[in-house]
Amino acid sequence: MNNNIPFFETKIEFLKGVGSQKAELLGTELGIFTFGDLIEYYPFRYEDRSKFHAIAELDETMPTVQIKGRLKTWEKIGEGFKQRITASFTDGFGSIELVWFQSLTWVEKSLRPNAEYVVFGKPTLFNGKWSISHPELELMSQRTTDEGHFQPIYSLTEKIKKRYVDSKQISKWMKTLIELALPQIKETLPESLVQKFRLLAKQSALYHIHFPINADASFQAQRRLKFEELFYNQLRLIKSNLLRKNEYPGQIFTQNELQSQFLKQFMAFALTNAQARVLKEIKVDLVSGKQMNRLLQGDVGSGKTIVAFLTMLAAVDNKAQACLMAPTEILAEQHFNNLMPEAEKMGLVLVKLTGSTPKKQREFIHTGLLNGEIHMIVGTHALLEDIVQFKNLGLCVIDEQHRFGVAQRARLWAKNKEFHPHILVMTATPIPRTLAMTVYGELDVSVIDEMPAGRKPIKTAHRYDTDRLKVFGFMRDEIRKGRQIYMVYPLIEENEKLDLKDLMDGFESISRAFPEYAVSIVHGKMKAKDKDFEMQRFISNTTQIMVATTVIEVGVNVPNASVMIVENAERFGLAQLHQLRGRVGRGSEQSFCILITGYKLSHETRKRISTLCETNDGFVIAEVDLELRGAGDLAGTQQSGIVDLRIANLAKDGKILQAARESVMEIIENDPNFERSENKIIKLQIDNFKEGQTNWARIS
Ligand code: ADP
Ligand code: MG
Repeated sequence: MNNNIPFFETKIEFLKGVGSQKAELLGTELGIFTFGDLIEYYPFRYEDRSKFHAIAELDETMPTVQIKGRLKTWEKIGEGFKQRITASFTDGFGSIELVWFQSLTWVEKSLRPNAEYVVFGKPTLFNGKWSISHPELELMSQRTTDEGHFQPIYSLTEKIKKRYVDSKQISKWMKTLIELALPQIKETLPESLVQKFRLLAKQSALYHIHFPINADASFQAQRRLKFEELFYNQLRLIKSNLLRKNEYPGQIFTQNELQSQFLKQFMAFALTNAQARVLKEIKVDLVSGKQMNRLLQGDVGSGKTIVAFLTMLAAVDNKAQACLMAPTEILAEQHFNNLMPEAEKMGLVLVKLTGSTPKKQREFIHTGLLNGEIHMIVGTHALLEDIVQFKNLGLCVIDEQHRFGVAQRARLWAKNKEFHPHILVMTATPIPRTLAMTVYGELDVSVIDEMPAGRKPIKTAHRYDTDRLKVFGFMRDEIRKGRQIYMVYPLIEENEKLDLKDLMDGFESISRAFPEYAVSIVHGKMKAKDKDFEMQRFISNTTQIMVATTVIEVGVNVPNASVMIVENAERFGLAQLHQLRGRVGRGSEQSFCILITGYKLSHETRKRISTLCETNDGFVIAEVDLELRGAGDLAGTQQSGIVDLRIANLAKDGKILQAARESVMEIIENDPNFERSENKIIKLQIDNFKEGQTNWARIS
């Protein structure tokens, strides 16, 4: 389809049956302003209304069901707000309850005893009995038989539904529009790809995505549109990646004495194969003459810090300075404490800069960085401030990158205008491989996929609130063996007061239950100094139990802490729980993670908890997380602005993504400027992107 065709830019109010009021609603609620916008407003699912379910075969995982049967009896019960109508409906074998809470007068008037109905809705099981609230009811006698019963469902807002715009209404408008539009729709993919992957033509795909006659037709339409979307998404990323690399030169770090010296004399352990491999990948970047932009992925505890430090040594060895930026003070502190002795051994100057660094100290640091006396600096966001300038910043390591946005990375770049510093971004949030290349299209990716030898896998168990006494008993046994324990509580801003109270109550009950031991507490509302003090007490084993919020989530390293207990585990996300668990299992002892929840858990929460109990593999967990939440929510993807897909789902369409990416690579290799006649179509699309037209331009 050629988006330069004015037809698709026609305002939606001019579509027959829409009018100016509905047009405004479509615009504000759904972002549909033009004909083009409406055509690419794809259904998010379909309902197969050609099939009927038996009540006996219902199952809670069914999103919606359709049942044919008769109404037996109904009654109005309750008073005031609680008033409702319940009806008993049978398919001849089983029975199910239908419930209405609203529009009761209207419902009462329209129900007909013993008439044959088709009921449609989401079944739920309560006290062993099935029910559907606010079902759709259609008299069998009024059901049209000629029309297809495979219906598109469009995502709508509450507001627009209140104004009587439902999926059927959208479908009606779509029908009017698609008939006008079909002759205008042009192909957007090279013929060779359409042939090779047996894709539907664009015209046909747009028709069948909205009006499929059956599941297969909708599947084929989706496949074609997903392929196209991912093809252009990858094309854009790959092109910009190439451009960026050509654009930014980098310092060349050939000198490598410090690193070898450290490896030979001071390393307490041997690098794992994965660490060594990653280090090599980094070295190649550092001598390439181009700015490095590398993402280092490694599960919690896989040993990213030492890789960072060795890379920092390479920078210093070549008369450049290096910085390491962490997302919290605690983490910065910890990195500093770990690296300081190593730096000293090497005769290098390492300093720390955070929000709580005193003014005098700051001034000293600013000067030292400018005149080059300081070789390495560890810090928080404070490093980003404009006043922090370097003699020659050569490398920035960013730890736990999902907390930092792209804009912040750019500020670091700006600290060396001649040669942008090399960037090494470290993250412990494993991103499925299929996704990494899309989300981090602009970064090269290295993976540490091996744990240091001798680690025992953490044992994870799920316990209910009511088991707490047993859990306390277990804690006591572990402390007696000399171990330390984390006990984590959720704290979210919206619920801050209550959460803080929970945390304090927890702290008190723990203190009471363990009078013979000392308990620390750390949460985000405390002053940095106090947090630090408590953290240090725990690190030195002065306290045996650490009650905390997720401030300890990232990076904290206390090898003697071997038990992680998470209270209200149902309130944490999968990735977050995995991160928390990663705080233990760092020493040689067997470590444990206990997830405590209430009894009532959603299907999804159960899946999260059971996944954690079954595996320690961050990549497996990331895959499940992606499946449960969809790609839009994945840490860091939102702000990257790269994942902006309307039909493809990165969690589920990995294969299509792969095929699209390979096709892009092949075409770019053979015809980088899209000059061949078969590739002209691509050129046209790219030019259209560049014009930056409305939504329409994005996919077509
Ligand atoms: P993360 O990747 O989560 O940041 P760290 O870098 O904090 O992990 O490393 C976790 C622990 O493993 C540290 O105590 C570190 O000293 C240790 N470690 C790192 N690499 C190795 C190795 N190759 N052999 C043994 N221990 C290692
Ligand atoms: Mg770390």
